[in-house]
Amino acid sequence: MTVTRFAPSPNGPLHLGHAYAAVVAHDLAREGDGTFRLRIEDIDGARSRPEFVEEFLRDLEWLGLGWDGEVAFQSHRLASYAQAGERLKAMGLLYPCRCTRAEIAAAATAMGPDGPVYPGTCRHREVDPEGAAWRLDVTRAMEIAGPLEWMDERAGPQAATPQVFGDVVLLRKDLPASYHLAATLDDAADGITLVTRGMDLFPASHVHRLLQALLELPVPVWHHHGLLVEADGRKLAKRRGSPSLGDRRRAGEDGRAIADALRAGRFPAGISLSQALDTGT
Ligand code: GLU
Repeated sequence: MTVTRFAPSPNGPLHLGHAYAAVVAHDLAREGDGTFRLRIEDIDGARSRPEFVEEFLRDLEWLGLGWDGEVAFQSHRLASYAQAGERLKAMGLLYPCRCTRAEIAAAATAMGPDGPVYPGTCRHREVDPEGAAWRLDVTRAMEIAGPLEWMDERAGPQAATPQVFGDVVLLRKDLPASYHLAATLDDAADGITLVTRGMDLFPASHVHRLLQALLELPVPVWHHHGLLVEADGRKLAKRRGSPSLGDRRRAGEDGRAIADALRAGRFPAGISLSQALDTGT
């Protein structure tokens, strides 16, 4: 049975791009007589705001996208992230790093999916772990895991190449997790069989596949969908003025009709679906 999820971060209101992601996840679950879960990715304390969560629930109901079961909150699961972090430390796969963004940008010799690739500065250095971030030694991790594959429903089989990110941060200095670790653990905890999300997160799945191997987690199938973009090719975002779903709802627009239009591939003027990996977010 298919289990999908929609996993928004409450650091701003949802917009049409999120509605598209929710429609994809919802419909893929419903087609397979499966389960559609809702997870709130709210571990970024500085940016997460509870009032957005209330809005998200109303927006989804208004779109006609009912979810199954309880809403999951990442902020309630910090202990499980910390535990996985300890396990990876015990395997000798994490090391502390106190480099700043500016130091990394200055020392980097390659660009990765999230910007300058961390050049491994602290990998073999003595670093005070107090208040440091912890990075995955990706080369060692791949030696232990061996060659890995993952399957995207649309793009086909993929050889996992998490090296494109360099040694990613798995435990942030302010949190016992990072997006990669929390999302991977949650997808396993929630029994997600089909991870649906936008093409912008396609490369992240290389890292998630590696974490599944290291932590002996079940391996789902992925479905990375296209992203709604504006005429200049950039992803829709509130900060560039696209109206939020809440604005549309309060203006009396018909949410179910909007969801149906997205299903049918009918987008507002100036908006199209891009399959590109990089949409200049
Ligand atoms: N929280 C992420 C976002 O809002 C989605 C992460 C995921 O689907 O894995 O873009």
